[in-house]
Amino acid sequence: MVNEVAVGRLLARPGRAAPLADAVLSFAGDRIAAVAPAAGQGRGKSLIALPALVNAHDHGRGLHHLAFGARDQAFELWRAALYAHPPIDPYLNAALAFGRLAQAGVGSVMHVHSSIDIKRLPADAEAVCRAARDVGIRLAFVVPLRDQQTLGYGSDDALLAAHPEADQPMIRSTWLNTFPSPGDYVALVREIAARVEGPLISVQYGPNSPQACSDALLAAIGEASAADGRRVTTHLLETSIQRQWADATYPDQGFLPHLDRLGLISQRFTGAHGVWLTAADIALLAERGAQIAVNTSSNLRLRSGIAPVAQYLKAGMRFSFGIDSFSVDDDDDAFRELRLGHWLHSPHHAERRLDPVGLFDGWLGNGYFAVNNEEGYGALAPDAPADLVLLDFDAMAHDVIDGMAEDMDVLLTRATTRHVRDVFVAGRQIVRDGRVLGVDLPAIEQEVLSQARATGARMRDLKPVLERSQATLSSFYQAGGHIRR
Ligand SMILES: [Zn+2]
Repeated sequence: MVNEVAVGRLLARPGRAAPLADAVLSFAGDRIAAVAPAAGQGRGKSLIALPALVNAHDHGRGLHHLAFGARDQAFELWRAALYAHPPIDPYLNAALAFGRLAQAGVGSVMHVHSSIDIKRLPADAEAVCRAARDVGIRLAFVVPLRDQQTLGYGSDDALLAAHPEADQPMIRSTWLNTFPSPGDYVALVREIAARVEGPLISVQYGPNSPQACSDALLAAIGEASAADGRRVTTHLLETSIQRQWADATYPDQGFLPHLDRLGLISQRFTGAHGVWLTAADIALLAERGAQIAVNTSSNLRLRSGIAPVAQYLKAGMRFSFGIDSFSVDDDDDAFRELRLGHWLHSPHHAERRLDPVGLFDGWLGNGYFAVNNEEGYGALAPDAPADLVLLDFDAMAHDVIDGMAEDMDVLLTRATTRHVRDVFVAGRQIVRDGRVLGVDLPAIEQEVLSQARATGARMRDLKPVLERSQATLSSFYQAGGHIRR
């Protein structure tokens, strides 16, 4: 087992301190034991090391959306295409996603599970967490909870009735299951936690979105989280349609204050997206120590907008970054996602610009807190978690004239998955020379694709159904069905 790593450049505190030249890191168990200067030589000389990135919002989809017909479009319509998601083995699907993320330099992942079939959840959770253990990443398994508004932001009965009659039985049987009581949901989360939690794996309460949960369920989640300390992750005000729904539903007291009164908003809370938060919402989240996981490329691809990160910075609200299974090029490239956020959230005219300190606080410390519920991550220093990514700096800087570019600028301008050489998590090497060590990723990808293709006929049968459903939903929202009271 490797317990020493030599590199030509060490970004021990990315954004906060210049890289050190020629250093050796040694590990003791899952922690860094020492960082010492040492003349680099051989392979390590070309490498730059920094703490492994954290993907603070994802859905672990090994099979990409486009593969099964879920093309990019407005989120509320896109969702209907999930009807066609093929029944792939959950272990293989998750291992493919986690393996790609590991190759991209990610050490910790927030996995928001998407199944709505309650009976399958404990077995799914075990399979997904086994995939995380085999790949070697840290994982938060977010248990999906919901008990209303499954088809859209309105009554399920009315929305179902708006669909063509012939399609209703399939839609009902796919999505309109009977929901457990809030108490049973909390017990289910704790049962799953008892089965899967371990040194690198934890479980979180996952109200899918506040609009998909009754007040009773949200209050039970807030109470349970306060009692057992488990974190809460939800989707929050991702789209303009959700904002309209929230304003129409809580015209007096406001949506975020309502969630706050239910006990949901605390420092254990992560809301994904937050594109449509108001200044007052952001102030409330900041006051509670809650955070938002920003999903830049997902918000672009689903036409949701751009998160108001300048306002987050102004209010001192914590935020992290996630990929949401929607990376720019559908390749789970975390460094490219980092670069996109770096550009989009630091325009010259912004009241507050995202600088490398804030950028890496998001991708490291805040994300790690969201996923692993532990503060202080983000430095390569004695006693810090031995989670690091090594990139081929010489390849990124192949044409740079000596002394003419800062190392940070090279990294921010050019780093991609193909530059990632080695990744360590908790002292264990999980990627070497760009290859995942714990699973056979190419074989898993082949198997996922062959399982998906084997159900191609079913998917093609469903395609017209989901397109009709998307047309129904489009008419519903265009007619203001979600804001009618
Ligand atoms: Zn999501």
